[in-house]
Amino acid sequence: MRVPVAITIGVCLFLVTFGFKTGQHLFGWWRSTHIEPYCEYNLKALWIVSRKCSVKYRVQFPPPLKLVQDFVDSGETILLTSRTSGYLGLVGREGMQTDFRGSLICARDPNYSLKIAKMSQNLPYEPSYLWHPDARTLAYCPYCGLAVLLDGKLERRGAMKP
Ligand SMILES: [Zn+2]
Repeated sequence: MRVPVAITIGVCLFLVTFGFKTGQHLFGWWRSTHIEPYCEYNLKALWIVSRKCSVKYRVQFPPPLKLVQDFVDSGETILLTSRTSGYLGLVGREGMQTDFRGSLICARDPNYSLKIAKMSQNLPYEPSYLWHPDARTLAYCPYCGLAVLLDGKLERRGAMKP
């Protein structure tokens, strides 16, 4: 039995397009579940921790990175209000003590696993983010091109580095 060429080509085109589209969707889904919220969450968490640190240690906002890093790495917790849990996108977590360990490490950082390993053993590591790089920015992730401003808003910036 000979299948007409046109049908074969049609079926192939369909499969290729379908596979490509599915792959694209899967990749988009993977990115949105694994990477994008990760850094968004981290940057928002850092904003909350910074606010907490500047009140706790009575220093001007934004507090120095050292203070924030010590706070985050020590696993110290913050009581989430309905406002802060809403800001972080944590539904139903208000009134809960939450720690922000690992918030200074981006999943896109090429040394992600090494830094996580160092952090978990309380060894010094270099945070993934640029801290207070300019007058209006609290922290900037060069890997995601995402910044959290001093007022807590997130801002996408171009110039994504690999
Ligand atoms: Zn990032």
